[in-house]
Amino acid sequence: MTQNSTSDQEEVVLQGIGVSPGVVIGPVFRLVNEEEHIVERDVTPREIPREINRFHGSLDATRRQIRDIQSTFEKSIGHGDASIFDAHLMVLDDRVFIEEVVRDITEKRRNAEAGVRVVSEKYAAALGAIKDAYLRERVVDVQDVARRILRNLSGRQEAPSEDIDQPSILVATELAPSETAALKRDKVLGFATDLGSPTAHTAVMARAMRIPAVVGLHDISVRVSTGDRMLMDGNKGVLIIRPTAERLSEYGHVLEVRKSFENVLQGQVALVAETRDAHRVGLSANIEIPEELDAVVSQGAEGIGLFRSEFVFLAQGHLPSEDEQAEIYERVAKRLAPAPVVIRTLDLGGDKFLSHVKYPSEMNPFMGWRAIRLCLAQPDMFRTQLRAILRASRHGNVKIMYPMITKVDEVLQAQELLESAKAELRSKGTPFDEQLPVGVMIETPSAALTTRAIAPHVSFFSVGTNDLIQYTLAVDRVNERVAYLYEPTHPAIVRLIKETIDVGHEHGVHVALCGEMGADPIMAPLLIGLGLDEISVTPTAIPLIKDAIRHLSHKDSQALAEEAMKKHSAAEIVSLCREVIAQVRPEILDLVR
Ligand code: PEP
Ligand code: MG
Repeated sequence: MTQNSTSDQEEVVLQGIGVSPGVVIGPVFRLVNEEEHIVERDVTPREIPREINRFHGSLDATRRQIRDIQSTFEKSIGHGDASIFDAHLMVLDDRVFIEEVVRDITEKRRNAEAGVRVVSEKYAAALGAIKDAYLRERVVDVQDVARRILRNLSGRQEAPSEDIDQPSILVATELAPSETAALKRDKVLGFATDLGSPTAHTAVMARAMRIPAVVGLHDISVRVSTGDRMLMDGNKGVLIIRPTAERLSEYGHVLEVRKSFENVLQGQVALVAETRDAHRVGLSANIEIPEELDAVVSQGAEGIGLFRSEFVFLAQGHLPSEDEQAEIYERVAKRLAPAPVVIRTLDLGGDKFLSHVKYPSEMNPFMGWRAIRLCLAQPDMFRTQLRAILRASRHGNVKIMYPMITKVDEVLQAQELLESAKAELRSKGTPFDEQLPVGVMIETPSAALTTRAIAPHVSFFSVGTNDLIQYTLAVDRVNERVAYLYEPTHPAIVRLIKETIDVGHEHGVHVALCGEMGADPIMAPLLIGLGLDEISVTPTAIPLIKDAIRHLSHKDSQALAEEAMKKHSAAEIVSLCREVIAQVRPEILDLVR
């Protein structure tokens, strides 16, 4: 990270990781952590009555707010769902709770914030230990109410994200994928966070929603205040706080150049991804939500190489039924037909969780109960999804893909469940594509090294470099502290991709790549040279990758890949690729870091 000034009022330039392209200029809206407002401190005996009054005042405010929310809820949703607030009101009127907080303030001589936190934590722990499931669930109510009381003690009104009143650049410590999905497009020009990485699903979501984003800025959330003016370049990962007039005019020029290059790219939408020496490569799209279909078509994708179906689940407040899922998958299949649509089965866990599915708490969620593991352990949920995909298959060219395979046995188990889902549909006379192709993600080192065992059972592989890199290099894909070790061109990764392609081709298996590595145009010579049949990327990246491919020679790219296989470091391999791009299409280097 660089900084060219330390004064509060002067321009500050920061370098982070650009994860979603686009340049935006606007005021900062700083999303404040709940905990930031909670100041706990010791008090003098004279301050004790004031603290007790503050506590009672916050209880009254909380009661009023809960009644308000309850009545709004009852009007729009009905009494049943609003009854949850009765439980909250009961906590607020619980004499033992109130007396304990007052005693804590008086005896321990601490402020009301400390008393509420200590007593509510004690309550939650005691309820959590009780065998009765109903009482255990009250833990959430106690925590919710305590948060609200603490918020009122701090003098704040509502959740901070609801306060954005003008289009702003959101600045936060971190955003969860679900929070990103809930961002209001008309209020959020872009976002910048302390934590995060390009392959975290928050970044994936930002690209899908076309919200420019820069992450991994370490301390941006404490460097800016709400209202500061900021320029953010999501392509280059650059953030400029209080940009000068010269900077703005310089950026005006950069934007003009980019705009004219983008016009060139848009002019190629109808062309195929073919090298100068006429080698065709499939270029398809990754999507998370059906709303991306327009972009898939307008950006010239030849199909959908990865539909992350878990986002269908994340978008709902409940587990979607077979009919609800089938309707969505059908919509996608019909829109793309006869082009292929690869629907990846549920890949939950890791950094994607549903509030309505119970997860064990895990030390290493990316290596835990995730993706195919979770699905094989929940066969009813899995078969429901498989039936929904099968039903969609008669409306288009649908394929199924299993995520996070680590060994052939998992493929065979999944296939067994697929067969039983087919049998269920047949018994009801529901039509589906009997020849529906099945493939797997190659995103664990063990899968990449056992492709010979897996190949006979599938018709395609898709290399998931986002996970393959994290598992092979032992680098958490969402941890910005180790982001410097997250190297797509590490020789180990290049070897695993090559092995997957070579073995796949020996067995007549189509080999695609759908990780973010494919969306980096600098990687194109290497990936084409290694022999991939298809690259699948976020829709907005398609024109640029196509442009890169159309300027490359397949023969030269093969030579580059051979050379890369002899290199010992990621940096050497990147250099080879950059050199080629600098020669054949230097304009691309202006767009990427
Ligand atoms: C991958 O791991 O490369 C991939 C495409 O899947 P996801 O990013 O959803 O884990
Ligand atoms: Mg993955």
